[in-house]
Amino acid sequence: MLAEGTKRDWQPIIRRFEAIAGKNNVVRRKEELLVYECDGLTSYRNRPAVVVLPRTKEEVAGIVNVCAQEQIPFVARGSGTGLSGGALPIDDSVLIVTALMKQILEIDLENQRVVVQPGVINSWVTQAVSGAGFFFAPDPSSQIICSIGGNVAENSGGVHCLKYGVTTNHVLGLKLVLPDGEIVDVGGIVPEMPGYDLTGLFVGSEGTLGIATEITLRLVKTPESIRVLLADFMSVEAAGATVSDIIGAGMIPGGMEMMDNFSINAVENVVATNCYPRDAQAILLVEVDGLEVEVEENTKRVEAICYRNGARNVRVATDSEERLTLWKGRKAAFAAMGKIAPAYYVQDGVIPRTRLEFVLREIATLGEQYGYRVANVFHAGMVICIR
Ligand SMILES: Cc1cc2nc3c(=O)[nH]c(=O)nc-3n(C[C@H](O)[C@H](O)[C@H](O)COP(=O)(O)OP(=O)(O)OC[C@H]3O[C@@H](n4cnc5c(N)ncnc54)[C@H](O)[C@@H]3O)c2cc1C
Repeated sequence: MLAEGTKRDWQPIIRRFEAIAGKNNVVRRKEELLVYECDGLTSYRNRPAVVVLPRTKEEVAGIVNVCAQEQIPFVARGSGTGLSGGALPIDDSVLIVTALMKQILEIDLENQRVVVQPGVINSWVTQAVSGAGFFFAPDPSSQIICSIGGNVAENSGGVHCLKYGVTTNHVLGLKLVLPDGEIVDVGGIVPEMPGYDLTGLFVGSEGTLGIATEITLRLVKTPESIRVLLADFMSVEAAGATVSDIIGAGMIPGGMEMMDNFSINAVENVVATNCYPRDAQAILLVEVDGLEVEVEENTKRVEAICYRNGARNVRVATDSEERLTLWKGRKAAFAAMGKIAPAYYVQDGVIPRTRLEFVLREIATLGEQYGYRVANVFHAGMVICIR
């Protein structure tokens, strides 16, 4: 760090970065730096002094090494979709952006794993292996744009986390660049390596321990059968009770998501799935997956639970096109809110299943009391507030 009041001479440092990453991959002009001044948490903004876009682990190590020698703070950035300000640059810092590190380095289907660079987009992994009957389970709603490096740093999860877990359950090993520029390996190519779980320590550390430059991911076999049920309810509480009852019956669906009336209409206005009934107070999307016999049986059980809790209708999608249509609205929920208000405030919370009905009632009361329109969209209890 520089002594207070001292101005850093960036020119020699930039020349060193250019020698490492190439002239075109060092961004210094003020108007170009604007793009990098915030992530998804747009309330906080700060321009970095320099942005460097490396292509390889050696280049990352070289840049970090210069930062260490010159005592310059650095921040890693993937796609910049984080909602917690993790990729927010600090004053006089270097932003190391992994957007050019987008190679899938190795696909090893026999051992159900892939090795990727950190800038690879989440959904590219499944696209690369789905033809062979595999998928990458962590599926944040931002999966068509967020990077695997960002997923690792934030320990991201999505619809599938209920059954398959979050990112930490799907990372086998990491090649890291530590803050002094040293390249180290943690974990390996098989799960549960002996010794300290350093991979587990790194996943979710929000870029504070170093930069992941190669990531070995676990692949999951695509289930033999998948069905998606869409149940609609005339009360949010009834849908909430259904969630508790499904889990209480001993079933773990591949995904289970809920949307309230406000979200349903926001989504239908934007993506027009024409599947979500606009007058429903809540819809529940339940993905049942596994062996064909198991799916057949569990679909019936879920259907029965929905009706027992007052569902008006339960639609079952069996082919992949219909399934995608049912999920399309849910995946677009965040974007759809942009049509309603220029800004919205996301509150991610974890609610015990048994307290779901109570919490939803309280949220509605608080929304009225303080004049907030609240859209409830859940996986593991997510609430979006709009004023
Ligand atoms: C519309 C929308 C929907 C979302 N839905 C979900 C969701 O369903 N579930 C969920 O979990 N999140 C969700 N998010 C949040 C976000 O997409 C995830 O946290 C995602 O994993 C961030 O990836 P990114 O590439 O954008 O990372 P960035 O925002 O660029 O960075 C996030 C953090 O990772 C660090 N980082 C990035 N790359 C590396 C690296 N190679 N090594 C070390 N640290 C690194 C950064 O320093 C920062 O701290 C959503 C965001 C949006 C905008």
